[in-house]
Amino acid sequence: KTKKFVTPFKTPQPTATATEQKTNAPPAKKRKVDGESSTTTTNPVLVKLFGSDTIPEDLQHLDVKLIEMIASEILNKDVGIRWTDIAGLEGAKKAVMEAVIWPMLRPDIFHGIRAPPKGLLLFGPPGTGKTLIGKAIATESNATFFTISASSLVSKWVGEGERLVRTLFSVARYLSPSVIFVDEIDSLLSQRSEGDADNGTRRLKTEFLVQVDGVGTGGDNSRVLLVGATNRPEELDEAVRRRLVKRLYVPLPTDQARHDIIRNLLDKSKSNYSLDQSQIERIIEMTRGFSGSDMSALVNESALGPIRDVHDIMNIDAANVRPIALCDFEAAMQQIRPSVSEKDIGRYLQWNESFGSFG
Ligand code: ADP
Repeated sequence: KTKKFVTPFKTPQPTATATEQKTNAPPAKKRKVDGESSTTTTNPVLVKLFGSDTIPEDLQHLDVKLIEMIASEILNKDVGIRWTDIAGLEGAKKAVMEAVIWPMLRPDIFHGIRAPPKGLLLFGPPGTGKTLIGKAIATESNATFFTISASSLVSKWVGEGERLVRTLFSVARYLSPSVIFVDEIDSLLSQRSEGDADNGTRRLKTEFLVQVDGVGTGGDNSRVLLVGATNRPEELDEAVRRRLVKRLYVPLPTDQARHDIIRNLLDKSKSNYSLDQSQIERIIEMTRGFSGSDMSALVNESALGPIRDVHDIMNIDAANVRPIALCDFEAAMQQIRPSVSEKDIGRYLQWNESFGSFG
């Protein structure tokens, strides 16, 4: 999708410190960069990002290398996950609809006291659909989707991290509406990065918070939503919680959701299966406590059952492979165990009670 630059974005000057940027920076003037060649390039990565191979005037003060890095490693344009791909989680979906999707689609209605939150936190056990929700937000709101893993930001881009974050937000504002999805946000913004962590990590955290605060200020109308996902919400301190205004618990799938996940996976797989309603119910019962990704692993493992019965895999007609049956699920249950413990669930519920936005 090619996005048009509609509203001029007031870019922070590259030399400005984080605190200076927080104040209303004057509108960016076109800045001369070192030599015309650095502004015009035939790099396809830029085409992917901007729809043309020229860095837009308003972003020319930024480091081309970092912009390219964002385009190649962070930007995710073909997400394509829709609400209907996510089983269960009705509460979280409804809250996201109201807090995020509608405001993105109808900024004319959602402003002032109806203005959407700048930050959203999805917390809960691993493999429950937090990333899927992030992707669905991008699809359903027609936003440009940036996804970064915080742990790789911290480890891979040491030294560059701070500038990369600044560049990321600038590009996101330019391609607004945008969603910046930060997986494992706890590793970027944890309380520990205050104390014993090295300076780099602390500066990265500060820069991130400054950038979040800067979104939508300065009258540029840019809509950038930060969505953080974490399995360890208790690592986030007050300063971070305050920015992530909406905090949604993404729990383990209910019986109905596990049912839907199995059905979807089997139907999509185009493999034959033979399971009546009571057998599916038996699987639902066996998988209490399984996460969505545990379910996915279980279905994959079960699908191998019929293959293992084949004596001559090279010569069998695909149509003669027997359908996946309950016995395959029972066998797979020996391999795939639930990855989340009761104790963990207790922790999430407790945090949800103290800091969650509902429930
Ligand atoms: P996380 O909560 O750790 O971000 P993901 O959203 O990445 O988990 O989910 C991992 C995988 O597990 C998905 O790609 C999908 O196959 C499956 N999954 C998890 N939750 C759901 C769900 N609610 N509906 C459908 N599939 C799910």
